[in-house]
Amino acid sequence: MATNTPLTPCMLINGELVEASDKKTFTVYNPATRELSASVPEASADDTNAAIAAAKAAFPAWSAADPTKRAACLKKLATLMRENNDELARLEAISMGLPVSHFYYGRNAASFFDHFAEAWPYIQGQSSVNTPGHVTMTLRQPYGVVALIIPWNAPVHFLGSKAGPALITGNTVVLKSSEKAPLAVARIAELVVEAGFPPGVFNIISGHGIPSGQILSRHIDVRALSFTGSSRTGKLIQEEAARTNLKKVILELGGKSPAIVFDDANLAKAVEQTQASIQANSGQVCMANSRVYVQKGIAPQFIEAFTKRFAAVRAGDPLLKETNHGPQADEVQYKNVLSYVEEGKSTGSLAIGGKGKLESTNGFFVEPTVFLETPESARIMKEEVFGPVVNINTFETEEEAIAKANDTEFGLYASVYTRSINRALRVAKALESGYVAVNCTSPLTGRDLPFGGYKGSGQGREGLLYSMGNFLETKSVIIQIDEE
Ligand code: NAD
Repeated sequence: MATNTPLTPCMLINGELVEASDKKTFTVYNPATRELSASVPEASADDTNAAIAAAKAAFPAWSAADPTKRAACLKKLATLMRENNDELARLEAISMGLPVSHFYYGRNAASFFDHFAEAWPYIQGQSSVNTPGHVTMTLRQPYGVVALIIPWNAPVHFLGSKAGPALITGNTVVLKSSEKAPLAVARIAELVVEAGFPPGVFNIISGHGIPSGQILSRHIDVRALSFTGSSRTGKLIQEEAARTNLKKVILELGGKSPAIVFDDANLAKAVEQTQASIQANSGQVCMANSRVYVQKGIAPQFIEAFTKRFAAVRAGDPLLKETNHGPQADEVQYKNVLSYVEEGKSTGSLAIGGKGKLESTNGFFVEPTVFLETPESARIMKEEVFGPVVNINTFETEEEAIAKANDTEFGLYASVYTRSINRALRVAKALESGYVAVNCTSPLTGRDLPFGGYKGSGQGREGLLYSMGNFLETKSVIIQIDEE
C-alpha cells in the first residue's frame, strides 16, 4: 500500500498557485496505511481575505463578459477533469480512502461543468404587461463573490455541482476544500489555471473550518454561500451569516435515511440495493440508508441475506481495482464510528461486525456492522454514524413503518420497497424527506430532480435545473409607458 513521496499541493488565489502566506501547512495521511500523503497549505485569515478580494476585483469583468466566454472556461475545465480522472481518483484514495473502483467523480463533475456551460441561455427573467400603463420585468443577476464550502466524502462531485452554476451565472468564487480531502481539489486548482479562467474568478483555498471557513461565512463581501457538510457546521455558518450580512446560505446537510421493505417487495433486489447503499464509501455518504425497516414476516430471510452480502466486502488498499471497501477517512472518523458501534452493542443486538481493524491492517478499517432491534430512542438511531453500520428493525403495519421512518430530525432521502403502487405512493407522500425512492435506494438520484433536505437536512435544493437559481438575485423593474 506504499504511497509516493509526500505531495505539496498549492492553493489558487488570484490566478497564482501559492502556499500559505505564513507557510503554515497541515498534514494528510493515507487512511489505509497511515503513511504521510501530503503537506497542505492552511489558508490563513490573510489568505482567505486575499482570495475574497481577488474574487471581488474579478467580478465586474466576469459578470459583464459574454456568457459564451465564461462557458468556454467551464468546457475546457471539464475536458481537463475527464483527462485527469484517474489521477483525481488516486489523490482521493490516498487522502480519504475512497476505492478507485468507486471513483467516478472526475467525469461526473466534468458533466456538471459541461451542462452549466451550455445552460447560460436559461439565465432569464420574466416580463409582463399585467400592470396597466406599464411594462414590468425581472432581471436575474449574479450575487458577486460566492463562497463554496465542501465536505471530504465526495469533494470533486461538490466542486462541480456548486462551482459550475456559480460561475456560469457570472459570480466569482472562493471554494474551500475539506481538511480531510484537499488533494484532488488542489489538483483541480492547477487545471483551473490551465483552463484559462481569468485571475480571481475561481479561487481555491485549503484549510480547516477555523479560520478560513469561518471567515468565508462572516465576510461582508461574500454575498452567497453554498455549503455541503454536517448539520453542526451548517448551523454555525448560518449563525455567522445572520450575525454579519445575512448572506444567502444554501445548506446541504446530514442524513439518517430510512429504507422501508414491505413483505411484498422483491426481496433479492431490496437486499442487494440497501446493502450497497450503506457500503458505498464505507458508509460515509449523506444519503446512505443507515436505518432499514423490514416487515416482520420477511425479516428473517432479509437479515440472513443482507448480513451475508455485507460481510463479504473486499476490504483493502483503495488503490487496487478489486477493493470495494476502503477505510474510514481518518482517525477521527474511525474513532467516532467505533464509539457509536460500542454504544450500539448495549442498545441493540449485534448481528455481524462490530470491530475496528487498525491492529491487523494498520489502516482505519471498520468491519461491516449490523445491529438488530435497536430502540428508536437510542443515540445510534438518531445521529449520523457515517460508517459501514446499519440498524435493521422490524415493523408490522404501514403506519408503524412511516412513524418510525419519520422519527428523526433528518430528512434527506428515504426509500420504500413494495409491489403495491398504492402503498408506494401513500408512503412516498407521508415520508418527511427531500427525496423518496420507490423500489430503489441511494445513492441513486434522477439527474434532473432537485436534491436537498427536509427538516435538519438542509435548506434549499440543488440540481441541474435548480442550482443556477441559487446563485442569481432577482430584481424587479417596472417601466411606465408615457401616453403621447
Ligand atoms: P463538516 O461539517 O465537518 O465539514 C464540511 C466543511 O465545513 C469542511 O470544509 C470544513 O472544513 C468546513 N467547516 C468546518 N467548520 C467550519 C466552520 N466553523 N465554519 C465554516 N466551515 C467550516 O462535514 P464533513 O465531515 O466534511 O462531511 C460530512 C457531513 O457532510 C455529513 O454530515 C454528511 O451527511 C454531510 N453531507 C451532506 C450532503 C448533502 O448533499 N446533503 C452530501 C455529502 C455530505
